[in-house]
Amino acid sequence: MKSDHTEPSTAPSVHGFSPGFAALGLEGSLLATLDTLGYEEPTPIQRESIPPLLAGRDLLGQAATGTGKTASFALPMLQRLAHGAKQRPAALILVPTRELAIQVGEAVQRYGKELRISVLAVYGGQAIGPQLYALKRGVDVVVATPGRALDHIRRNTLQLKHVQMVVLDEADEMLDMGFADDLEAILTQTPADRQTALFSATMPPRIASIAHRHLKNPVEIKIAKELVKAGAAPRVLQTAYVVNRPYKVAALIRVLDLAAPKSALVFCRTRLEVDELTAGLAGRDYRAEAIHGGMSQPQRDRVMTAFKSGQTQILVATDVAARGLDIPSVSHVVNYDLPSSPEVYVHRIGRTGRAGREGEAITIVEPREHRLLRNIEQLTKAKIIVAQVPSVADLRTKRIERTLTSIRELLAAGDVEHFRSVVTVLAKDFELVDVAAAAVKLAHQAQGGDVEEQEIPSVQARVPDYSRPDYARPGMRRPSPMSGEMSRGIRPREAQGRPSARPTAGRTPNSARIYIGAGRAAGIRPGDLVGAIANEAKLGSAQIGGVEIEERFSLVEVPESMARDVIEALGRTRIKGQKVTVRLFRD
Ligand code: AMP
Repeated sequence: MKSDHTEPSTAPSVHGFSPGFAALGLEGSLLATLDTLGYEEPTPIQRESIPPLLAGRDLLGQAATGTGKTASFALPMLQRLAHGAKQRPAALILVPTRELAIQVGEAVQRYGKELRISVLAVYGGQAIGPQLYALKRGVDVVVATPGRALDHIRRNTLQLKHVQMVVLDEADEMLDMGFADDLEAILTQTPADRQTALFSATMPPRIASIAHRHLKNPVEIKIAKELVKAGAAPRVLQTAYVVNRPYKVAALIRVLDLAAPKSALVFCRTRLEVDELTAGLAGRDYRAEAIHGGMSQPQRDRVMTAFKSGQTQILVATDVAARGLDIPSVSHVVNYDLPSSPEVYVHRIGRTGRAGREGEAITIVEPREHRLLRNIEQLTKAKIIVAQVPSVADLRTKRIERTLTSIRELLAAGDVEHFRSVVTVLAKDFELVDVAAAAVKLAHQAQGGDVEEQEIPSVQARVPDYSRPDYARPGMRRPSPMSGEMSRGIRPREAQGRPSARPTAGRTPNSARIYIGAGRAAGIRPGDLVGAIANEAKLGSAQIGGVEIEERFSLVEVPESMARDVIEALGRTRIKGQKVTVRLFRD
């Protein structure tokens, strides 16, 4: 199905509810919830997914995190469950990681609050006891990682025979993590006439094959298709800062402190965020004002007049409120949230760098939204530089630079005659340099000085978060790959050639290679594999030969006679908290 992005209404709803969401067929209680959350209009994926899912169709959606895809399946799911049979669980959402299970669980809970739908997230690494208790009491929606879902199915603590809807979220990541067999096993436990939605940021043939086998005549949606005309994005400097969610406000303030914008337009997705951020900025002495669809026309007019006159330095807005407004070109556009589509991004940053003036676009992104950022970059043909959030030291240096610039400008203007006599008086008692230093200090403090600041932890942009310690199996011994005899078997990567092409080069006679379906992308290090084999298959470390870690898989050399035991033992266990494919590697 082709993406069909009709330009949404710019007018706020008369009744307070978004006319955009109402037009998709969502009922009053969900509209009320969305209103409370401050959502003003559906994102493109929501516009396309909600009606067919409400109608009971299967769906195959290509969309990355950050596009609003959780609501696109959760809202129709909740509406259908609220009016359907009450046997539980009635819906199952499978996600690749613990982090996502928690996030999706919270989102479904939020959206389903008015409908009193109960939700439980179950994932590996979490104590099983409370999960058993909650499952026994009964929940409507289970959000689970595949490994843990299968554990519960095998213990008979999760029964899927009443499930009406299954969602496979981030299916490509689940496959990359070796969950293919688990997914198949889980799906066979669900009724054949269930509704199924599969979301994936990419659509490799393996996903198409799963979709072909498990989805019935699905509606296909591809959001990334909407190509923005090459060159449509304005030629302004575009920078993105990757931070974890709790640090977003601090990062935004830090970036603004450093940029010292003359006038900035900050975009948020929801009304709530607009209000929170405006309050945060005002608390830091910025002249900031909010504008969103929940405000009356006279309120908005007042805000716009103040912004146009330069009285307000920062305008914090939702897309809906900013659309159709006659906003003068600003020096900075800041995306507090990554917009849900490239078109909206281009529209937003088009507010700066107009008429040959200099402009800058700044975007704050969460690590999981990195893929959406890259999509936007590709589709707009515009380079977005990913930078570290400035450190406290960067900020201090910048502030000192600003003070110095002010002093230089004053000296160049030569307007200091009146104060020379003051210096002459002080110079009788102090060194001239000390007098100057004291004066600079006063000037610096008058410009804001050095406020007490906390460092904002920098994070690597990444796709999944496999490498967190909570994915490791508790109690698993992890010998250091670089210590003593363990390191003997590990050849440096440079010495390995291309293992996929010549995997047997340099092999010991009578040895076999074990393929393990997780590699560097999953944060696997040689020590993890050596440790797992030593612990689970009781092999001495000296018996373990070369270890090769590739992007998506690893190979470990073991004595041929032990290969079967090792495969069996590793197949039963989890590596970095995940079940992975383990098999003999045939050249
Ligand atoms: P997701 O892609 O589902 O992870 O959603 C990304 C973020 O967008 C989440 O913080 C949602 O709360 C938010 N969001 C989803 N839909 C909308 C919408 N229609 N308007 C504003 N924010 C939204």
